[in-house]
Amino acid sequence: MMRKTKILCTLGPATESAEAIASLITHGANIIRLNMSHASHDWVRMVYQRVREAAAGAGHEVSVLMDLTGPSIRTGDVPQPWQLVKGDKVELRTTDDAQPTQNYSTTVNYAGLSKDLKAGDTINVDGGMIQLRTLEVTPQRVIGEVMTQGEMKSRRHINLPGVPVRLPPLTQKDYKDLDLGVELGVDFFALSFAREPAHLQHLQLLLDQKGSKARVIAKIENQQALDNIDALVEASGGIMVARGDLGSECPIEELPLIQRRIVERCSYHGRKVIVATQMLESMIENPVPTRAEVTDIFNAVIEQVDCVMLSGETSVGRYPDKCVEVLDRVIGRIEATYKSGRFANDAPLKTNKHKTVKSAIVLANSIEGSKLVVFTLRGVMAHLLAHQRPESAPIFAFTPNLHVSRTLTTARGVHPFVMEFEKANPEANIRAAVEVLTAKGLIKQGDPLVILSDALYAEANIDAIFLREV
Ligand code: PEP
Repeated sequence: MMRKTKILCTLGPATESAEAIASLITHGANIIRLNMSHASHDWVRMVYQRVREAAAGAGHEVSVLMDLTGPSIRTGDVPQPWQLVKGDKVELRTTDDAQPTQNYSTTVNYAGLSKDLKAGDTINVDGGMIQLRTLEVTPQRVIGEVMTQGEMKSRRHINLPGVPVRLPPLTQKDYKDLDLGVELGVDFFALSFAREPAHLQHLQLLLDQKGSKARVIAKIENQQALDNIDALVEASGGIMVARGDLGSECPIEELPLIQRRIVERCSYHGRKVIVATQMLESMIENPVPTRAEVTDIFNAVIEQVDCVMLSGETSVGRYPDKCVEVLDRVIGRIEATYKSGRFANDAPLKTNKHKTVKSAIVLANSIEGSKLVVFTLRGVMAHLLAHQRPESAPIFAFTPNLHVSRTLTTARGVHPFVMEFEKANPEANIRAAVEVLTAKGLIKQGDPLVILSDALYAEANIDAIFLREV
């Protein structure tokens, strides 16, 4: 049985060794995330090499996604943790020369906080563990009153629910990290706190200018992004539903509705969608998931998302392999039994290529046991096939381009293979692909194949559909 929904694993101290990385990949990881919020350049170089070696050893590709930290707002140092109780006043100083005026006073790394906030706005610290209500705003400081009490430590993350912030799209650190990612050849960059399509276009242009083929994944983390969701989806190479920050930026009861809406918009515009954060949170400590987590996976699978993501579960958790195994098993079981096309098939067929792909899918859906085989130079046909969500046929994608095959690891239902094409000889290419698939036990005699190509006639680039039996 071939799982369609892909698994994205974040590397960290728990999974940095060559053995641990190889094990994640053999257990089923399809995409590896390097979270630049917690990674030095030396560490990234080391694990990147290990990922590529482990994939080569496993005999199938994975893609690498570099997650840029983006312009997050953080508090400064707090020498001793503060035990904040309701009613306490907390001061956030926005300029270097501002002197403390309150007992609880620290700096904040964003001078624009004083411009963006007004009295009455909520400030969530540490994912909402501490909540402040803004009392006073001056050019040099913001004073808030503690509404939800808790312990406040150094360099805590701040969210401002519903407040449009004017942070730049990328920080100096992001630009340095990006150069490293380009040098190494990562396949995707995720942009944290993407709020405007111009942010994505800026990053994509930069990558193109630097000669990178990587595409940009927009992390949707706040209301500002949701207000621009269609434009962001269209301008991106894919979307990450970053439920961690969304959960502190938006009312928590909105979160399932937000997830569903983003998935729908990605389906409509034909873009990849990754559902992230707390999929198996309890497995950071425990060897089995909670029942609610299994049901969360169910929801993502029936929404037909492309990927589900593990963060702390694989970066710092005690059971990284077990997490991948649980996802693999649960996804497999759901996909084998529960058919849902509800969120998938409303995308407009904009071009003749879209219509050709749709025709191949109609054909595959109508022939029991059929498999889709696609020959693709740039990956376009294969990505389009995945976006239109065939009902049960797997998509075997052949490409001569290693990077294209890596990017296809993120596409729902696609199994990529690197193969040199014989120019202007479609029959030779089909024979070679059938040999590969037969040798791997993925097809057998009598299987119907719906074959799609934009690459067989290299000079002419003719789109074609063939129906064959193995
Ligand atoms: C999130 O907020 O859900 C997320 C994926 O972002 P990060 O890992 O950067 O917190």
